[in-house]
Amino acid sequence: MKRKWYDYLWIAEIAYWGLGLCNILFAWLGVFFFCIPLFIAVFGGNKAYCNRYCGRGQLMGLLGKKLSRNAPPPKFLRSLWFRYGFLTFFMVMFCLMLHSTYMVFTGAPLRRTLTLLWVFKLPWQWVDVSIAAPWMAQFAFGFFSIMMTSTVLGLLTMILFRPRSWCVYCPMGTMTQGICRFKQGREDSENGRESKKDRGTA
Ligand code: SF4
Repeated sequence: MKRKWYDYLWIAEIAYWGLGLCNILFAWLGVFFFCIPLFIAVFGGNKAYCNRYCGRGQLMGLLGKKLSRNAPPPKFLRSLWFRYGFLTFFMVMFCLMLHSTYMVFTGAPLRRTLTLLWVFKLPWQWVDVSIAAPWMAQFAFGFFSIMMTSTVLGLLTMILFRPRSWCVYCPMGTMTQGICRFKQGREDSENGRESKKDRGTA
């Protein structure tokens, strides 16, 4: 089958990591990875991002060919309570990151650390972030920490289970799926209302 341009978006994922490790300010590019899936889900009402354009999902699929045990993921990973619980936890952590950014905006000192898996602090002193406002640098540290944490979890589940097991509980995937279902539900109920009107039963 002929490959399309979007089959190579895994390269963008690797480029993101390369750039971010060279200068943390490139972490801001990750905002696109955050906004584009939501934009597609809200305005397109579909999961085209997950199905076609997600470089991370593609990369895990490729790496998993060599590194994955290919075992089925445990059932609890697929359960609604776990997926929505993890999404809630992730969003709380995201809001805390935004709060730290705001604190630096209002004058608190910049903290040059990356936080891996929400607890491990990695000193990241050597990068020059003087070209950006301190709050912009703080956002970059926080956002890169989130991206790094989700990637580590993704790689672990890729090795332990199937290559794209991360997609089962990825907060972005859960959010976009929820949005698509909500939109679909509204369309169905609007169509139902129309057909009731058409039938003269409403
Ligand atoms: S579930 Fe997450 S990692 Fe998987 S394809 Fe969708 S956005 Fe990418």
